[in-house]
Formats: sequence, C-alpha cells, structure tokens
Amino acid sequence: MAEQTREETLAFQAEVTKLLQIVANSLYSRKEVFLRELISNASDACDRLRYEAITNPALTADDPEFKVVLTPDAKARTLTIADNGIGMTRQELIDNLGTIARSGSAAFAEQLAQQRANGGDKKDEKEKTADDIALIGQFGVGFYSAFIVADKVEVTSRRAGSAEVWRWTSDGKGTFSIVEAARPGRGTTIVLHLREDQAEFTEEHRLRSIVKAHSDHIGLPVKLATKDAEETLNAASALWTRAKKDVTEEQYKEFYQHVAHAFDEPWMTIHARAEGRLEYVTLLFVPSARPPDLFHVERKATVRLYVRRVFVTDDAEGLLPSYLRFLRGVVDTEDIALNVSREMLQHDPILAKIGSAIVTRVLSELEKKAEKEPESYARFWDAFGAVLKEGIYEDVGKREQLLKLARFHATAGEALTSLAEYVKRMKDKQESIFYLTGDDAAALKASPHLEGFLARGYEVLLLSDPVDEFWIPSVGMFEGKRFLSVAQGAASLGPEPDKESKDQPDAGELAVLIALLKQGLGDLVKDVRASARLTDSPVCLVADERDMPRHLARMLRAQGQLKEALAGILEINPSHPLIRAMVGMAKDPARRSHIDDLGKLLLDQAHIREGDLPADAAGFAKRLSDVMTRAVSQKS
Ligand code: ADP
Ligand code: MG
Repeated sequence: MAEQTREETLAFQAEVTKLLQIVANSLYSRKEVFLRELISNASDACDRLRYEAITNPALTADDPEFKVVLTPDAKARTLTIADNGIGMTRQELIDNLGTIARSGSAAFAEQLAQQRANGGDKKDEKEKTADDIALIGQFGVGFYSAFIVADKVEVTSRRAGSAEVWRWTSDGKGTFSIVEAARPGRGTTIVLHLREDQAEFTEEHRLRSIVKAHSDHIGLPVKLATKDAEETLNAASALWTRAKKDVTEEQYKEFYQHVAHAFDEPWMTIHARAEGRLEYVTLLFVPSARPPDLFHVERKATVRLYVRRVFVTDDAEGLLPSYLRFLRGVVDTEDIALNVSREMLQHDPILAKIGSAIVTRVLSELEKKAEKEPESYARFWDAFGAVLKEGIYEDVGKREQLLKLARFHATAGEALTSLAEYVKRMKDKQESIFYLTGDDAAALKASPHLEGFLARGYEVLLLSDPVDEFWIPSVGMFEGKRFLSVAQGAASLGPEPDKESKDQPDAGELAVLIALLKQGLGDLVKDVRASARLTDSPVCLVADERDMPRHLARMLRAQGQLKEALAGILEINPSHPLIRAMVGMAKDPARRSHIDDLGKLLLDQAHIREGDLPADAAGFAKRLSDVMTRAVSQKS
C-alpha cells in the first residue's frame, strides 16, 4: 500500500497520444462538445450504479439522489464536473483513461490512420478534418475531448463501496500520473484547468446554454453550483419518458447523437408508448448514414434496454433481430423484473414479445415512408437495404413485409424499383422475374448475360449485395412469379425480333465448331453450347440450372470457403462475326488447328467479364499475342 500512495507517472498507450492530438485539433470548431461528453460519462456512471444498487442497495443508501454538479471558478480558471456515480478504482482509472482498452477506440485509431493515408493528396486539410470529425463522432472518444479546452485534467474518483480514492492527472502530452487522494463520498470529480483562451467555460450563462442545448435529455439533474445555491440546468427527465408533443426536433436530434455517438441527423424517429398487455416506451432512430460497425461479423443490435428507467444493457440479444441492427435508441419497459441477472433478463420471453412488436412497428413505419417519400426512402435503402434483406431469409414471419420494402436496381432505368412494380411492368407472356447477381450495379449493367433479354424487351433486376445470393433461393417466388437468374440454366428465349435467319450459320456446321471447342477446352468447361442469351458479345459463361450460381461460387472462393473454381458452361453467340468466321475455320483443315487457341481466349475473355483473371496468365498472354501477330501480318 505504502508503495502505491507514492505518485506514479505512467505513459499513455502510444495510440492515445496520437488520438488526443487529433481529437483536440479536429473538434476545435465545436469545442463545447467536451461538456456533453463529460456529462454523458457522468450519466453513464450513475446508470451503472443504479443497476448495481438493485442487488446491493447499501451502495447508494447514504446518498440516494444521483446528480452531476458543475462548478466554475473564474479566478482559478477551472471548471469542475462532479458526479456521484459508480466511480473508478485505481486500475480502472489507468485502464479507462490511459489506454485504448475498448475495442471501439482501437478500431478507431486504426481506421483514422487508414483514412488519413487513403485521403492522401486528394483532400485538403479541411476535408480531412471533416472526415476525422465524422469518424470521431462515430466512435465517441468522449473523455479525451476534455483536452480541447484544458491543458491539465485531474480526475479524482472513488468506486462505490470502496474507501480508496485516487487521482489521475495529465496534461494530455504523453504521460499521466496517479496518486492517492481524498473525496468525501463515492463518484468522480473532474477538474479542467482551462487554457488561457477558454475562460468562457467559467461563465454561468455559457454553461447554462450548452447544457440546455446538448444535455437537456439526460435523465438526471445537471446542476450549476453558484455562490449561494445549486441550480438545475436541464429538464432532468429522460427524453423518452416525455410526451411527444413536448419534444422538439432539435432535442430528438441531440438525443440521437448522444445515444448513437453520431454527428448525422436521424433519418427517421419513432417515439411510441405501448400500453395494454405489454407496457413499454420506444425511442428509436434510423440513422441517415451507415454506422462503421454495420457489417462486423457479430451483427449486433445496439439499442439500449432500460427497465423502469434503469439502464440494463446495450447488448440485449433477445430484443431485436440483427437485420434491424442499424437502429439506435432506447427501449424502456415496465414488464420485466429487475432483480434478475442480465443473462436471465436477455432470455425473458417478454423481451422477445416486446421485440417482435417493435419489429412490426418499425417495418410499418418504413412502409409508410416508402409510400409517402420514395426519394428519401431510396436513400435509406442505399444505406441499409443490404442489412434489411437479411431478414427475408432469417425471419420467415416477416418475409412478405420485407419483400414489400425491398428496392432494386434494374435495367429499365436509374430509379429503384419494388418487386410489385417490376411485376406490373412484366411483358404479357413473361412468367419469371429475371435477375442477375454480381459485385456492383454498374458492372452488372454491362454484363453480356443481359443482351438477349434486353433485345427482347425484358427488364432484369440487378442485384449487387452478397446477401442476394441467399434470400433469392429461400424465397423462390413473388406474386406467383418465379425468380430466374439470367446467368443460369438454358435461357429459353424465343427468336429475336427483326433478326434475319441468314445471320445464323448452318446448324450442322455450328455443331462441328462446338465439338471442336469442347475437345480443345476439355475440363475447363462443363459444356459448350449455342446461346440465345447473346446479341453483341461472342461468348459468356453460365451455370447449369442445378449448379451453384457463379457469383456465389466466386464469393465463397474469395472467402476461402471454396477451393476450386467451378467449370461453367461456355455459351457462344452463333450470329457474332467472330463465331461465324470460326465456323468457316472449322471447315478448313489448314486453319482448323487455330480453333483451340481461339476457344481458350474466348473462355478467358468470359472469365474477365465476370471479374476474374485468366487462370493461366502466361498462356493467355502468349495466345493473345499469337493471334494478334497473325491478324496484323494478314494481307487484306
Ligand atoms: P465511452 O463513454 O464511450 O466509454 P469515454 O472516453 O467517454 O468513452 O470514457 C472512457 C471510459 O472511462 C468510460 O467507458 C468509463 O469506463 C470511464 N469513465 C469516464 N468518465 C467516467 C465517470 N465520470 N465515472 C466513471 N467512469 C468514467
Ligand atoms: Mg463517453
């Protein structure tokens, strides 16, 4: 113990120093956010103690009213923020304030470095700073924002239930010290020694207006200690407990940015109270921009669960399905017993019932938006459609509703289309919903597989999210129409309109060419056949009806889940000049030997158009230069 009371100086983890600098520089233009961050930490600390006190009431018995107190001192140029929350032990002070222990911050530092590196010369410092701010907002590196306005920060803390008090002190320049100290009760006191030019943060009117603007929604009183009294600055009732009519847009936005650690505007706000069999309040937001962890493998929902105003967890597994993980906000219920463990609570069947009711509500709100504001809805869909579509195969009960909400790029135009609209536009005898899957919508639009369908006036859906490979086979049909990939199976398209049959080579002669191609390509292809799918391109690759879709196979191969490339069916376009010339070649014993090389080149070309490299790059280069040499040396 004696050894610990000595003052000890420790170094920040390397990333923290870097982070401190960036945070201080980039957030300077909105420097008053430091107060919101520190108040929100104080509020979190009270939330955590409130929950612990349910099973251990002794922790709060001596001081049951949670609060945050701001004490400005103009003479000393300090601002003190004190809370009576859970407090921190010596080790917690070191871990929470001196290292990037939290996974979010580590990821943040990494992404920040990467973003700065990628931005490179293209962006000026102002644009880079804007990017930094967006990222900082998303990760919420809250505490460090104190160094925007302070050149020295002292954090004195006493863990609830402990007698020890420790003080953490730093100038934010690479080291911090830790020493034993004194504090009457539990909680944390932060003293900001304000920089010379930041004296404004000791002015009472300035503090009043910052708290009103940024921390009004905090569910505990934020007080200002003036000479003679304590004055409460905020409404001090959790925002979601207030009636809708008493909450302004601006307050919703502030609250959203607080719970989501975000700087964007909420795209949609759902504030609702359920009464009756289940009693709960929801205040949920759909962000307007994708949060950075949207596609993390955990696919976790992060809505905060409260039971009777007591914060329980932001990791309530049983509450919302992962296909709604873009939602941010709060669910507060009256229906669950608080004196059980978090784990028990997660599996409470009531939680699942509440969750299911919320899903229904959210989907119907989305439906309304889609109907009333299609352009705004399209922006939502761009950001979160790929996530929502996971529900189509994960939540069979909501499938119909989700299919109704889904939007697609299609060959017909730039605008997104719904399935119902597509079906309405279908041609008279069209029985299937045609679609094509691939890596991105622009590349898909140029795909050879579309040619024959477009030439006959069919519309094709262009699906570029990985999840599309999974929900389509699990759904199979929509309004009685089968989904049919234009890159799979035999395209039984009738003759092309306005196409002269003289463009087609003789069937027997074509069969000779096909036989030669098959022989030359061997195992590289599953089959070679003539195609109705093509008009402009000479060849394309398709999968057999029962085979794995080629785009899915490519995705699985990229993830290392599939070793071998699948041999595809090479379809050739009988009316293409190159194929017609090759039919002629096949009849001529002197030139027939070139068919092998041409066949392999055509196969490589088909692979390239799918987004793959030729399997044998050296062979490809040699064959290409041979063919080019013959072409340029030919006398015409
Ligand atoms: P975040 O709030 O997103 O976790 P911060 O940088 O704001 O990140 O805070 C870092 C950590 O420091 C918090 O997670 C918490 O454990 C601890 N902390 C900060 N302020 C307080 C406080 N007033 N009382 C108790 N713990 C605190
Ligand atoms: Mg914080």
